[in-house]
Amino acid sequence: MSQAIFVNQTGGAQVLHLQDCEVGAPGRGEVLLKHTAIGVNYIDTYFRSGLYPSPNGLPFTPGNEAAGVVLAVGEGVEDVAVGQRVAYAGPLGAYSSERLIEARHLVAIPDRVSDEQAAAVMLKGMTAQYLLRQTYKVQQDDWVLFHAAAGGVGLLLGQWAASLGANVIGTVSNPAKAELARQHGYAHIINYSEEDFVARTAEITGGAKCHVVYDGVGAATFPGSLDCLRPRGMFVSFGQSSGPLPSFDLGLLAQKGSLFATRPSLFAYTATREALLACAGEMLEKVADSTLQICINQRFKLAEASQAHVALEGRQTTGATLLLP
Ligand code: NDP
Repeated sequence: MSQAIFVNQTGGAQVLHLQDCEVGAPGRGEVLLKHTAIGVNYIDTYFRSGLYPSPNGLPFTPGNEAAGVVLAVGEGVEDVAVGQRVAYAGPLGAYSSERLIEARHLVAIPDRVSDEQAAAVMLKGMTAQYLLRQTYKVQQDDWVLFHAAAGGVGLLLGQWAASLGANVIGTVSNPAKAELARQHGYAHIINYSEEDFVARTAEITGGAKCHVVYDGVGAATFPGSLDCLRPRGMFVSFGQSSGPLPSFDLGLLAQKGSLFATRPSLFAYTATREALLACAGEMLEKVADSTLQICINQRFKLAEASQAHVALEGRQTTGATLLLP
């Protein structure tokens, strides 16, 4: 018997409930996967709260990231074999001990990468890949600002951006997070609960400000993030851990210096098999060659998913958080 977390009604962390469930046999193009480690992401809280509607309706099983071993394959599946270690950042349903998933979402885990590392890095690491290498191509000596630098995506992005030769500024809410961010590529740290991050960014860059701001915090850092950009800089709004951005007039981008702005999503950048394999391949190579150190700083049992969400939303976590089935 498999077990999974279900959301019967959207709401706070308490709506996450563990239940027994039957998974069934894989259909055409599908794989039966036994999870060994499950990644927790901020997006999981958006589906749980109802900010993002579940495409599966109610009830649903949250979670978009996991690693595991293939137990069975359906008709027409050729890319993966029974017994293979695989990982994904894909459709809802990761908070479970076993699941069915279409094979096209799966990526083989390299030998030098553990299941836990893969579960911690598939969604967050591919996000770092497309943000730095596709949305805005970071170049040597660019000035880059990233909010919530000690978070799951944050610790990966800092290391990767530093390896590209960028000058990386990170914001954090306390001194312990500042120290962690400093160890993961951030040359300059701003504690935005005590300092004005706009003024400090101007100071750190000698008044020139940044080429790109990656903002996953949302409401609390808007419109300040726009003021951290130099003329024609790129504002990348990719999340809203403090709440959604207010609507704004595009004319604001002209006023702030002919800025560019985009609101990207990982799933659009990995929509084809070719794009997924290129993004995951480059990222997993960075894990295998240790350019990216994976910080798994919280582990919970699958049954404790609600505690994991309380910690994540309470700003108590750093790096990656895993659920272990
Ligand atoms: P994090 O580990 O970064 O956790 C969120 C962090 O946001 C907190 O630790 C906290 O850091 C900061 N924060 C600031 N204000 C608040 C607030 N009011 N409440 C809670 N947290 C706050 O999460 P993830 O790494 O999983 O995700 C980071 C962001 O990236 C999220 O917004 C997520 O939605 C987005 N994302 C977007 C993707 C995309 O493709 N568009 C893909 C993956 C992630 P501190 O205490 O230092 O301020």
